[in-house]
Amino acid sequence: FNAPQPQNEPVLGYAPGSAERAALKAALADARSKQLDIPMYIGGQAVRTGKTGEVRPPHDHQHLLATYHIGHTKEINAAINAALAAKSDWENLPWEQRAAIFLKAADLLAGPYRAKVNAATMLGQSKNAYQAEIDSACELIDFLRFNVHYMTEIYAQQPPISPRGAWNRVEQRPLEGFVFALTPFNFTAIAGNLPTCVAMMGNVVVWKPADTQIYAANVLMEVFMEAGVPPGVINLIYADGPAVGDVVFNHPDFAGIHFTGSTKVFQHIWQTIGANIHKYKTYPRIVGETGGKDFVLVHPSAQAAVVSTALVRGAFEYQGQKCSAASRAYIPASLWPQVKANMQRDLAEIKMGPVEDFGNFINAVISEVSFDKLVKYIDAAKADSSVELVAGGNYDKSKGWFIEPTVLKVNDPYYVTMCEELFGPVLTVYVYEDDQFSQIIDIVDKTSIYALTGSIISQDRYAVAEATQRLRNAAGNFYINDKPTGAVVGQQPFGGARGSGTNDKAGSMINLLRWVSPRTIKETF
Ligand code: GLU
Repeated sequence: FNAPQPQNEPVLGYAPGSAERAALKAALADARSKQLDIPMYIGGQAVRTGKTGEVRPPHDHQHLLATYHIGHTKEINAAINAALAAKSDWENLPWEQRAAIFLKAADLLAGPYRAKVNAATMLGQSKNAYQAEIDSACELIDFLRFNVHYMTEIYAQQPPISPRGAWNRVEQRPLEGFVFALTPFNFTAIAGNLPTCVAMMGNVVVWKPADTQIYAANVLMEVFMEAGVPPGVINLIYADGPAVGDVVFNHPDFAGIHFTGSTKVFQHIWQTIGANIHKYKTYPRIVGETGGKDFVLVHPSAQAAVVSTALVRGAFEYQGQKCSAASRAYIPASLWPQVKANMQRDLAEIKMGPVEDFGNFINAVISEVSFDKLVKYIDAAKADSSVELVAGGNYDKSKGWFIEPTVLKVNDPYYVTMCEELFGPVLTVYVYEDDQFSQIIDIVDKTSIYALTGSIISQDRYAVAEATQRLRNAAGNFYINDKPTGAVVGQQPFGGARGSGTNDKAGSMINLLRWVSPRTIKETF
């Protein structure tokens, strides 16, 4: 097997007049012109229950884009049974053949499906064309190609030492049972990565995406099937969380969960698994990436322009709905007037509106629930005389769930929006006295209940070294002189500890190793 040395998929620019823009516009028009009726896929069969939910673009909630069929106990059990039925053939397939299927999926996404998957992400998740290109098409293509590469390295690992008279070897077995993949709305790449990297290692999967991501998940499933993932290896179901949990976490063959989503849900799942531990044949693998409250720490030696760009991009791309988004910043008093002026200037230029107009940098937040939650925080801050509204603060839900990029300046580094995850376009800034840098590092660490990403912006190498050392547990992905978002597969393996997850680095060999259970064999002569 000749595993290619992977390269990152080049990101297309979508310039006016470009072929890719025309293809994407056509895919958007095509998607809007039909009202899809989206089935589940169980054992390779499309399954419709007649009980349906609706998909509406978050930026245009009057438009019914699609309906999808909701499963219950019967369908969830059917998905588990289909997975278990497919298991033996799949795990006995030479791994080179499994690899070839996922490389084909990457090629389909890079070519014929690129516009379709981007259009689905744009419409279903209100993500602009450029962000969709980066993290629905390119990042998923990268996940597939790099994971196949890491997989070949795992299977090619040197065997242990065999002294005279014995032959020792280690076999990388798939897990005994099925794995449950639970994927979030915000990244189509994560939706595709969680089930595929598990399946690649010879496992069978029941996959439930967030309701607000079903539209793009359906396209991914089409790609996986066309690439040759056999029926039953990945089963795509839509159902209420508690209904799924009841079946999956009580099943004796439950062998693991690959999760990205909220800290609260992950903790609940972990507790449920713990309470049911005696029911399982094997200890399940629990792998999860959860919340974030990601910091940008600025040293007085930083350049204001670098700081404001990192903040505007880090906090507001995809409306701040990234676990990695910059949501709290610590800025020295000497730099604040210039950083503030730059941010106000840049944010005044940024346009907000539907994804169909490629000039809109900001689109809608994902749902009414999310809109209402964010509005509560914003209103409370606006009503608080200790908080300065630096930018934004307005919202409008008449057509879509639109919230302006909002910057708050607070006087208390423990203020609620400095500590709680909001998951939206709100950045909170705390301005500190220039000579308090050392003390502020302690506060950043203490308030890092989550520890996903963080940045230090500084031209002073000593300050960089100090922050890097003292904040070593405050972020799993630490950026020096950059925004804390936009990890690239193969370049920055992604994940964090503390309240942010199990830190099994998405897009790495570490992650793939969680989906095998090695067997050591000693043969004596
Ligand atoms: N990997 C993404 C980034 O680096 C964030 C993923 C997430 O939000 O879960 O921005």
